[in-house]
Amino acid sequence: MTSQPGTTFSPRLSEQVQRLRPSSTIAVTSRALEMQRMGIDVLSMAAGEPDFDTPAHVVAAAKAAIDAGKTRYTQVQGIPELREAIAAKLERENGLSYSPDAVTVGNGGKQSLFNAFFALLDPGDEVLIPAPYWVSYPEMVSFAGGVPVAVPTLPQDGYRLDVEALRAAITPRTRLIVLNSPGNPTGAVFPEETVRAVAELAQERGLFIVSDEMYEHIIYDREHASVARFAPDHTLIINGASKAYAMTGWRIGYAVGPLPLIRAMNAIQGQSTSNASSVSQWAATAAIADSREFIEMARGRFQQRRDRIVAGLNALGLSTPTPDGAFYVLADTTRIHADELEATRIILDEAKVAVVPGTDFLAPGRVRLSYATSLEQIERVLERLREL
Ligand code: GLU
Repeated sequence: MTSQPGTTFSPRLSEQVQRLRPSSTIAVTSRALEMQRMGIDVLSMAAGEPDFDTPAHVVAAAKAAIDAGKTRYTQVQGIPELREAIAAKLERENGLSYSPDAVTVGNGGKQSLFNAFFALLDPGDEVLIPAPYWVSYPEMVSFAGGVPVAVPTLPQDGYRLDVEALRAAITPRTRLIVLNSPGNPTGAVFPEETVRAVAELAQERGLFIVSDEMYEHIIYDREHASVARFAPDHTLIINGASKAYAMTGWRIGYAVGPLPLIRAMNAIQGQSTSNASSVSQWAATAAIADSREFIEMARGRFQQRRDRIVAGLNALGLSTPTPDGAFYVLADTTRIHADELEATRIILDEAKVAVVPGTDFLAPGRVRLSYATSLEQIERVLERLREL
């Protein structure tokens, strides 16, 4: 006789995990995959992942690593070759000088962020997060015992960050500021003067900045400015291979910053997952060493898609600001339904298009569409929304 475990007894779950809200980006993406598996013709604009294949030279490096038997544990913080490639990239592309010891490699940017929040926060510590924000920041902060504090930015301002609003949100409990530029889900790119002002604010008030730069290469007609240029002692950079090199499934993220923090993060990772996949690390080493052609190709394609989807959504009366970076748009869906959760349901059930509701991003009345998909799919999505 088979029985389902958990029907007669189930363990008490921790209070902390009971407060944890599952990721809505992951939930919608999984739902769309499930519907597709059932044979339903769903067009997914949910997943925040490039539709391109991982570049061939990266795949070749991974195969070579397997053939050479590079399949064992590595250093917790990552193989020296990868950390050297990251340090060289920071010098070459960002004008930043870090030793490879100041780099720690994790299983995706998510693990690096998780390690950082656990290394930095005590119960009750407040973390300022410009909103709309990526759904996982406030959850990770709360899980680590901190208190997320949203600092709103507005669609009519192109989600520009007002540094005075950030300053006004500081209390004696504030410890961290999270910056994410180019941003998920807004696509906003903070100009250099904003980034510099946040750096000065952090220095003045003794705060630390977690700067998520995962979308730095997906940027249109603008320059990426890392806050680490202005306040290196006050900044942890988070980045990774997923978005720039179309490597979401390989799970390689990294963090770069002050050595005591990096050592603490290594200790946390050493007691949880140890190293990121050895094969993925060799692949990422090749990706980070040289992928200029791929990055240029991807950026050009993303820009075409952005222009098409922004024009198409606005033409349908679903007001959508033009983002300067990343591959997301936030469309106003109040014409479909005042409540974005209901609008998301209608769009999925009736138009068979999967989008992420703005709720967990703190973007009420809006839904997020990822346009990291073909132009042809974008046309089909616009057509279905027009019919709806
Ligand atoms: N960061 C991507 C997104 O927002 C991937 C999914 C996730 O990790 O949340 O869709």
